[in-house]
Amino acid sequence: GLRKGLTKVRESEGFFGRLKALFAGKKEIDPNVVEQIEEVLLTSDVGVKTTELLLDEIRSALSRNELADTDKVWDALREHAKRILRVGAGGGLPLKAQPTVVMVVGVNGVGKTTTIGKLATQLKAEGRTVVLAAGDTFRAAAVQQLNVWGKRVGCEVVRGKDGANPGAVIFDAIQKAKDTGADVVLADTAGRLHTKTNLMEELSRVARTMNKALEGAPHETLLVLDATNGQNAMQQAALFKEALPITGIVLTKLDGTAKGGVILGICAEHGLPVRYVGIGERAEDLREFEPDEFVEAMLG
Ligand code: GDP
Repeated sequence: GLRKGLTKVRESEGFFGRLKALFAGKKEIDPNVVEQIEEVLLTSDVGVKTTELLLDEIRSALSRNELADTDKVWDALREHAKRILRVGAGGGLPLKAQPTVVMVVGVNGVGKTTTIGKLATQLKAEGRTVVLAAGDTFRAAAVQQLNVWGKRVGCEVVRGKDGANPGAVIFDAIQKAKDTGADVVLADTAGRLHTKTNLMEELSRVARTMNKALEGAPHETLLVLDATNGQNAMQQAALFKEALPITGIVLTKLDGTAKGGVILGICAEHGLPVRYVGIGERAEDLREFEPDEFVEAMLG
C-alpha cells in the first residue's frame, strides 16, 4: 500500500519528517512553535498562502488554550493537512464511459509518459483493455518511450508519422478503442512548444478534436506535476487550469524530495484533487492518492 511505498519519502526527511522532528520528545509547547512550523512549511514549498491558512488555525487554537501540549499541536496540524488534502473526488481514475478517454498533460520531464505507462500497467492488471495514444508527436523520443511501455504492458499504441497532427493521432486512438471495445484511452500530449500560449492553444485544440471523436471526451484531464519543482509546480497548475478543464493531479517524484509540501499548496490554492502520486521510476511506483492514508504514511 501507500504506507510501504512512501517509506522512502519518510526516510528522505520529507517535510512531514521535518515537522515531526520539531515535536519529537517535547511535551511542553515551545513559545516559538508557530515560527518553527512556519519555517518548515515555507522551506517545504507549501506556499505562503497555504502556510498562513494552516498557521492561522494553530494560532487561534493556541489562543483559545485548546492545545494543551505539543501532541495536541501536532494532531491539529495533521487534521488540517488531511482536511486540505480531501478536496474533490480524490484518488483513482473514475471509469465513467466506454471507452473512458484520459488526456494527460504537463510540461516536459515531469513524468507524463512514465505515468501513462504505470497507469496502463495497473489497468491491465485489473483486466481492462487500454489503448495508448502517442500525442506528443513533436518528440520522436516520447513516441518511442510510449511504444516501449505499450510492448511491456501489452497494449496497443496508436501513433502517427513524424510531425503528425497530435489531434489526428488521438482521434484515431479513440476510434480504435471504440472499434475494439477497449475500456480506456490514455493520451499523451506535448509538453513544450515555442511559447506557452502556443502550447495551451494546441492542447485546447486537441481536446476539441477528442470531443469530435467521442462525445464527452476527454472524460478526465490529468495534469502531471513534478514534486521536485516546488513552487514552479504551483505556477504550472495555474497556467494549465486556465487553458483546460483539469480534473485531477498526478504528483510525481515524491520519492527523493523534501519539498513534497507542495501537495498541500496545490490542493488548498487550486482546489484540484490529487488522483495519484509517483514514488519512483518503476511500473509499480504509482499509488492512488488517499489523503488520510497519505498523511499517516508520512508520519510513520
Ligand atoms: P515526460 O516528458 O513528462 O513524459 O516525462 P517522462 O515520463 O519522460 O519522465 C521524465 C523522467 O522522470 C524519467 O527519467 C522518469 O523515469 C522519471 N520519473 C517519472 N516519474 C517518476 C517518479 O515518480 N519518481 C522518480 N524518481 N522519477 C520519475
